[in-house]
Amino acid sequence: MSASGPGGARLLIVGPPGAGKGTQAVRLAETFGIPAISTGDIFRENVRNETELGVLAKSFMDRGEYVPDNVTNDLVADRLTWADAEGGFLLDGYPRTTDQAATLDRILSGNGHQLDAVIELVADTDEVVGRLLKRANEQGRSDDTEEVIRHRLDVYTAQTAPLVDLYEQRGLLVRVDGLGQVDEVTRRVADALVSRGLDAAESLA
Ligand code: AMP
Repeated sequence: MSASGPGGARLLIVGPPGAGKGTQAVRLAETFGIPAISTGDIFRENVRNETELGVLAKSFMDRGEYVPDNVTNDLVADRLTWADAEGGFLLDGYPRTTDQAATLDRILSGNGHQLDAVIELVADTDEVVGRLLKRANEQGRSDDTEEVIRHRLDVYTAQTAPLVDLYEQRGLLVRVDGLGQVDEVTRRVADALVSRGLDAAESLA
């Protein structure tokens, strides 16, 4: 039984760009009956719609930099008040800095909640650069040029990798090899979460 009750769980997925977080987040959210909330997707949607937030976010995203913490924190604080996130959520791509992690702690504890687990998708650098270059060809994302990709990986190592240690110290970390078939990786993560006592809404059979 999870701390959030049957079918609910409060989860994060972290890992370097190109590790497959977005793909896995959508599948795992479905399995656990919770919404996948991707800050990258929210920013991209705003870029597409040319909102004020989108124009601001794009200037950082195109350079492979993080959108400023205050902007990102406000966005997530608002998104977590939506009804669909009441019983749980899977945050994909947030928090990415220690300031964001502290903000998330405050948001959750303010509601008497806490994280149930943090999934780290592990993938080596050459593999993720290769995947991202392939995605650049297929999807034409403006932040998927080789130079920007390398910079995004450096930013991840400097600013986000330390969060993994923080969550490991809290006993929340579920480290999973991100290499292999998509289905296989989903199964690996889901099994690891279920063995921590989280309830899958969908049958894992
Ligand atoms: P993603 O799709 O998660 O790789 O995010 C794409 C880009 O959106 C990142 O390179 C950042 O520019 C921006 N972004 C997404 N999530 C965050 C976050 N939590 N903090 C700051 N910037 C973010």
